[in-house]
Amino acid sequence: MKTNTTKNERTEKMENNITSVERVQRFTERVSRAKNIHIERADETQFLVASAADPDKFHEVTLDVDGDNMKCTCPDFIFRARKLGIPCKHIIAALDSI
Ligand SMILES: [Zn+2]
Repeated sequence: MKTNTTKNERTEKMENNITSVERVQRFTERVSRAKNIHIERADETQFLVASAADPDKFHEVTLDVDGDNMKCTCPDFIFRARKLGIPCKHIIAALDSI
């Protein structure tokens, strides 16, 4: 796990120094990866979105559109996308499904 921490720390440093153009590129990458993702809507604000890495695993997406709250349990959102101020592909896929 030490390797992961170091990698995440490196990633975090990198993400804090990206340009606006790179931020848009990261966003469009995620939009194209959001296509054809399997989604199940659990209730008004909760979605289960299949993991691309492991189709047997699901990430939990919360989309509270009225409350301006969107989050996902995936590592991309927790370690990268949220810090970039962009949604992960699961959030994009869930938004696209409503
Ligand atoms: Zn996600």
